[in-house]
Amino acid sequence: MAFDGSKPVWFGVWCVRHRWIGGLVAVGLVACQARAADRTVPRALATTTVVADLLRQVAGDRVAIDTLMGPGIDPHGYKATPRDADRLARAELVVASGLHLEGKLGELLAKLGRRTRVVAVAESLPRDRLLEVAPGLHDPHVWFDARLWSLAPPAAAAALAAVDPSGADTYRERARDYASRLERLDDELRARVATIPPDRRVLVTAHDAFRYFGRAYGIEVVGVQGTSTESEAGIADINRLVDLIVTRKLPAVFVETSVSDRNVQALQEGARARGQPVALGGRLYSDSLGGPGSGAETLEAVLEANVETIVAGLAGER
Ligand code: ZN
Repeated sequence: MAFDGSKPVWFGVWCVRHRWIGGLVAVGLVACQARAADRTVPRALATTTVVADLLRQVAGDRVAIDTLMGPGIDPHGYKATPRDADRLARAELVVASGLHLEGKLGELLAKLGRRTRVVAVAESLPRDRLLEVAPGLHDPHVWFDARLWSLAPPAAAAALAAVDPSGADTYRERARDYASRLERLDDELRARVATIPPDRRVLVTAHDAFRYFGRAYGIEVVGVQGTSTESEAGIADINRLVDLIVTRKLPAVFVETSVSDRNVQALQEGARARGQPVALGGRLYSDSLGGPGSGAETLEAVLEANVETIVAGLAGER
């Protein structure tokens, strides 16, 4: 039977007499509304997996969140593909980490910011809590200090509320809960690192992603490559670190999931040549979270996994 709007009374009577059909119509309407709701879910695009995780923790399922750079991708040197430019242009909200983490995307994001809402969450953090790497330039790897990153959720909540005002209370509440979880995690991480003998609390790794981590949890951090993977490590850098490994008798050095192992291998060769072999302590998650099924799909899981890897590596025989 076709719906005929010109016969409302007749149709109403018909529905009362045929309730099951009325039920079907109701089910159909609910299904249509659900599809409409799907269509109206705001779409946000996060530049990195770390930022996407922050948005998911704050948004729950109210917002569809995509990630520009997937697991294992190094954000420092990443260049947008034409498909990325298209995804960025279509997003209602683009959330970046900021502080020049997305070095090569900076210009594109700035341009995009003239017509789309673009937010850099790390730039909402108090400046006096940031580590300066050069005058006016800050280390972008802020998520490795769980307490510092616990100050980022409000910026995520505000960005989400701007594209979905009716969810503002939900975002604020979820941001508060997430910040509390990060604070508790911060205490746990500090307690775990404290189990490493003090003279072994030295983290040698591929690039300087862990300076906030080191400051927060009491570990001296030395990267071969500097704060960005864009700079080349020279022979002098390698020799300086081999000296450190040999004189401090460090049991392990670490590699990172989003950075080439080449420099860390050079360190191992150098230390072996000096009669002080150094083990590979394991792979740390640095500028990217783990992929699906890795068990490290959230920042909380990544911080726990990294600390366990570091504790196990530095407790090794030497
Ligand atoms: Zn980095």
